[in-house]
Amino acid sequence: MGLKEKIIQLKKDKNAVILAHYYQTADIQDVADYVGDSLGLSQKAAETEADIIVFAGVHFMAETAKILNPTKTVVLPDLKAGCSLADSCPPEAFSAFIKKHPNHVVITYVNCSAEIKALSDIVCTSSNALKIVESVPKDVPIIFAPDKNLGKYIMKKTGRDLLLWDGSCIVHEAFSIDKLIELHKKYPDHKIIAHPESEEHILNTATYIGSTSGMINYVKKYPQEKFIVATEAGILHKMQQEVPQTELIPAPAHEDNTCACSECGFMKVNTMQKLYDCLLNESPQIEVAEEIRKKALLPIERMLELSK
Ligand code: SF4
Repeated sequence: MGLKEKIIQLKKDKNAVILAHYYQTADIQDVADYVGDSLGLSQKAAETEADIIVFAGVHFMAETAKILNPTKTVVLPDLKAGCSLADSCPPEAFSAFIKKHPNHVVITYVNCSAEIKALSDIVCTSSNALKIVESVPKDVPIIFAPDKNLGKYIMKKTGRDLLLWDGSCIVHEAFSIDKLIELHKKYPDHKIIAHPESEEHILNTATYIGSTSGMINYVKKYPQEKFIVATEAGILHKMQQEVPQTELIPAPAHEDNTCACSECGFMKVNTMQKLYDCLLNESPQIEVAEEIRKKALLPIERMLELSK
């Protein structure tokens, strides 16, 4: 039996569900029960009846699943699957920042630790960030963390002044505008689509800006078009399955790497073997201290409620 078949069998035997992010490798996406973005994955985690959740993604995502499912076993294939954006917002410094700016509503992007969520009023994802910000009365000041690029994009779209935390994602900041312009000169018929974690100069070139799900829906809507895709390159697998005839090119990164595109090293530490091992051994498990979990649950529930 191959590894894929062994994982599927073990999943059945243990009543487990595999939730995978679009940035996972293609083989992991293909064995998952559900592939999605942070919002979709949180929604699936909230409604699952499985006993074990295998989270093929990064630590903060598995943590969100555990916050929503305290009695279930949540495993992550590799604990080293972290996130530069989540790391850019340490709880002590963020707590001091909030204290310095009282009376602000604290909205945090889901890419942050449980401790940061516990300090927040509402969580959001890139799918619902605009809606969540607009749900706050106009005269109430807002702190937005940790992603400054997404924050700037929301400010531009809503006209609201947000107090931004200075955090960012190394992957989305790795796109090279010079190389992108060069690439677009070579393929002028390709439309550029981008994730709002990208820097402003990249977003300014884009025909469409949206979450990973939003980007997939956009290319499905215009299958006759061709696209240059500015987000982590793992998304191309699912996107290409949805629009097999459409030409898709990953946006180029500053650094030269094997695929000449942007890959998240954190996402890619997960492998099929680690996925199998973590399901077999039910380890490493994600735990969240109950006091933090309860506080972090409220802003996540507010988000899920507002996203219905
Ligand atoms: S792509 Fe960026 S935001 Fe997403 S997990 Fe990797 S480092 Fe974090």
